[in-house]
Amino acid sequence: MLKIARLPQNDKTNGWSACLPDRRPHAALNADIKADWLVIGGGYAGLAAARQLARNRPDDSIALLEAGICGENASGRNSGFIIDLPHTVSSDLDQLEGSHRYLRLARAATAELEAIVTENSIQCDWSRDGKYHAAVTPEGAHSMLEPYAAELTALGEPFEWVDKKALAAKLGTSHFHRAIYTPGCVLVNPAALTRGLADTLPGNVTVFENSAVTALEYGTSVRAVTSGGSISAPRMILAANGFSEQFGHGKNRFVHLALCASLTRPLTPQEQETFGVEKPWGLTPANGFGGITMRYTNDRRILIRQDIRVSMQQNFPARRTAKIAHQHRKLFVDRFPKLQGVEFENSWVGYICMSQNGAPMFGNVAPNVWMAACQNGIGVTKGTISGVLVADQACGNNNVLIPDMESLGSPNPLPPRSLVEIGARAKIGWEIWKNRKEA
Ligand SMILES: Cc1cc2nc3c(=O)[nH]c(=O)nc-3n(C[C@H](O)[C@H](O)[C@H](O)COP(=O)(O)OP(=O)(O)OC[C@H]3O[C@@H](n4cnc5c(N)ncnc54)[C@H](O)[C@@H]3O)c2cc1C
Repeated sequence: MLKIARLPQNDKTNGWSACLPDRRPHAALNADIKADWLVIGGGYAGLAAARQLARNRPDDSIALLEAGICGENASGRNSGFIIDLPHTVSSDLDQLEGSHRYLRLARAATAELEAIVTENSIQCDWSRDGKYHAAVTPEGAHSMLEPYAAELTALGEPFEWVDKKALAAKLGTSHFHRAIYTPGCVLVNPAALTRGLADTLPGNVTVFENSAVTALEYGTSVRAVTSGGSISAPRMILAANGFSEQFGHGKNRFVHLALCASLTRPLTPQEQETFGVEKPWGLTPANGFGGITMRYTNDRRILIRQDIRVSMQQNFPARRTAKIAHQHRKLFVDRFPKLQGVEFENSWVGYICMSQNGAPMFGNVAPNVWMAACQNGIGVTKGTISGVLVADQACGNNNVLIPDMESLGSPNPLPPRSLVEIGARAKIGWEIWKNRKEA
C-alpha cells in the first residue's frame, strides 16, 4: 500500500471565497464503497474529467475524492484569467503550428466552461473583458511587446495597442508605458467558478469533500483510502496536480511554486468616483517573473498577484505570506496613490506546478490509471481541457483534440530534488532581478 504523506492544507485565507455566500461542502467519505471510476482531485482537471466521464458513461458510477473543499484549492485561489492565448508565441513556423494547437485547446476549454456556466446559471462574474498585456518601461515594450504583436499578427489574432495615456484612463494608474489588448480572455471569480463546477456535476458523479487520500493500492482495481473509508474502482483518473507525484506517477518531473495574491475590499461609491474607472479590467505583465498581475473586478475590488517562490514541499509559511502582503500593500499604494485608504481584505498563497519543458502530465500512465496534471500556471484552460480529454481517452473516445494535447509532450525528468530547488531558486531570482524595472 502506497502512503500519501503530503496533503493539501486549507489555511482559510482565500479572498475569492471570502466574498461569496457560505456553502455547505459535499459530505466526506464515511464508508467502504465501490465505483466504476475514481477521480482524485477537485480542481479544474478533476472536475472536468468527472463531468466528461459522466457524459460518456451515463450508467457508470463516478466517485471524486477531494482532500479539502472545492474552490479552496489552486483552482479557486488563482487570478481568475481564463486565457485563450499563449503568453508568448513564436513566428517560427513549427512553433506557430504549436501556438495554433494551443489556441484550439484553450478555446475548447473556454467554450466548455462557458456552456456549463450558462446552462447551470453559475454566478461567477463570468465576463469576456479581454486583457491588457502591459510593459512598465519603453525598453520592456520594445523587447517583449513588439515581438508579441508581430507573433499575434502571424497567428491572425486580433489585438490593439494601448498607449500610456489611454491606459491610464482605462486602468486608473499611470504606472504602465504601453500594452497590447487582446479581447478573448474571460475574467471570473475563480472560487465561485470552481464551486459551481463541483455543485452541478451530473447525477452519476458523487463528490466527497474533506476526503484526502492517505493511502492507495494498485491492482486490477485501485483502492483509495481516506480517514473515513475507502473506494475501490477498476479505473482511476489522477488530477491532484503537484500532489499527484506521491501517487507514483510524474516523480521528479515537477517544480512546485507558491504564488501569492491580495484582494481589497470593494471601493465605496466615493472611492470609485475618485478612481474614475468604469469598466472592470485584467492586466498581465509583459514579464511574468518581474511583473505584477492585476485586476479591477466587477464588484469593484483590486487584485494584486505578485511573487513567485519555489516551494518543493508545498507548505509556504504564514509569516512569509504576511511579509508578501506587506509588499503587495506597497505596490498597491504606489500604483493607486488616490486609493491609499483602501485596505486588503485577504492575502493568500496557492501552489502550482511546472515542468522544465512546459509540458503537461497527460494520458495513460498505468494499465488502469490516467493522469491530468502539471498545467504550468495556465490551469483554468489547460486543466479543464486536459480533464475532458483524459476522460475521453480513458473511455476510448476519439476526440480530435487528443493529438493536440499529446503534441505538448510530457515533462522532462529533473535532477535530484535538492538540485532542482537550488537551480529553480537561482533561475527565478535571476529573472526577477533582470526584469526588476518591469515590476
Ligand atoms: C495565485 C495564483 C494565481 C493563478 N492565476 C491563474 C490565472 O489567472 N489563470 C490560470 O489559468 N491559472 C492561474 N493559476 C494556475 C491555476 O490555478 C492552476 O494551474 C490550476 O488551478 C490547476 O488545476 P488542477 O485541477 O490541475 O489542480 P488544483 O486546482 O491544484 O486541484 C488539485 C486538487 O487535488 C486535491 N488533492 C491533492 N492531494 C489530494 C489527496 N491526497 N487526496 C484528495 N485530493 C487531493 C487538492 O486538494 C486540489 O483540490 C494561478 C495559480 C495561483 C496559485
